[in-house]
Amino acid sequence: MKKIFIIILSIILCGCGNNSSKVSPFERWMQEEGKIKILSTTRMIDDLVENIGKEKVAHLALIVGEIDPHTYELVKGDDEKLNRADIIFYNGLGLEHGASLRYRLQNDPKAKSLGDLLYNKEPDQFLVIDAQIDPHIWMDVSLWAKTIEIITEELIKFDPKEEMFFRKNADVLKDKMVQLHQKIYTLLQKIPPESRYLVTSHDAFNYFARGYLLEGQETDWKKRFIAPEGLAPDGQLSVTDIHRIVDHLISHEIGTIFPESNVSRDSLKKIASVCAQKGLKVNIANVELYADAMGGKGTSADTYFKMMEHDALAIGECLEGVR
Ligand code: FE
Repeated sequence: MKKIFIIILSIILCGCGNNSSKVSPFERWMQEEGKIKILSTTRMIDDLVENIGKEKVAHLALIVGEIDPHTYELVKGDDEKLNRADIIFYNGLGLEHGASLRYRLQNDPKAKSLGDLLYNKEPDQFLVIDAQIDPHIWMDVSLWAKTIEIITEELIKFDPKEEMFFRKNADVLKDKMVQLHQKIYTLLQKIPPESRYLVTSHDAFNYFARGYLLEGQETDWKKRFIAPEGLAPDGQLSVTDIHRIVDHLISHEIGTIFPESNVSRDSLKKIASVCAQKGLKVNIANVELYADAMGGKGTSADTYFKMMEHDALAIGECLEGVR
C-alpha cells in the first residue's frame, strides 16, 4: 500500500514539474498578477529592473539569446508583450534601430529610453563615434549605474506607495555596482600598459576602454581599443577597415584579438591572416567576450554582473595572465 502511495505521489510530483517547466518566461510574466509589468529590450536593462523592483515587478526581456539588439525586428508575439507592459525600458541612443521595433518604441508613451534620458542630464559622459553617440553605455559599470535612478523614478511614478522599497533596493544595487566597477578596474590595471590593448569584433568596448584600460593621466582611450566593425556589426567590412586594424596591431605589437559571442569571426580571421602575411603572429583568443548579448542560463555570463566580470577576467588572463 505504502509502495503504491509513493508511486502515485511521484507521478503527481513529476507531472507538476513537467507542467511548470513548460511555462515560458512570457506566460509566467503574464500570470504574475498584482505586480508592475516591465518589459525591457535587453537583458542588461532587465537585470537592473529585477534588482530594483524585486517581488513588486514582473520583469521580462524582449531580446534574448544571441540575437543582435541593433537589428532586432519585432516577431510574432512581441506586439502582445509591448501592449501588456505597464512600462517599457529601452537602451536608446540608436541601439534598437530595427525599423519595426524602433517605430513602436518611439511612438509608445510607456517606453522610456534610459540612454537618451541620461544623455539629457549628462551629455559630457557620452562618446561620439563617427558622428553617432555610442549606445554601448552598459560596458562601463559606473555609467550604467547612473540609469538606476531613472528606472527607480519611473517605478515610483507608477507605484508611489512603494517608494521606500524601490529606493532601498536601488541604493543596494548602486553600492554593488561601485564595487564591481572598482574590481574590474583593479583587475585590468594589472595588465602592463604596453600590453593593455583590446581588439574585438565590433565597436562595443569604447566605454570599457575609457573606464578601465587607460594608463595614468592618459586620455586617449582610442588607442586602447579598436574593432574592425562599427557601432552596429551589420555593415560590410572594407579592405581599408582591415588594413586600419592590421596597422594598429603591428604598431602596438598586439598578439591577441578577441571574438564576441554573437558576432561572426570572419573579420578577425581575415585580420589574423593579413597579419601573418606581414610577419606578425596574431591569435584569436579561445574565449569569447560578451557585449551586445549575455551568455545563456548557467554560463559564466548569464547576468550583467557576471558578464562584465567574465570579460574583465578573460581580457586580463589573455593579455597578461592576471587572476
Ligand atoms: Fe553593439
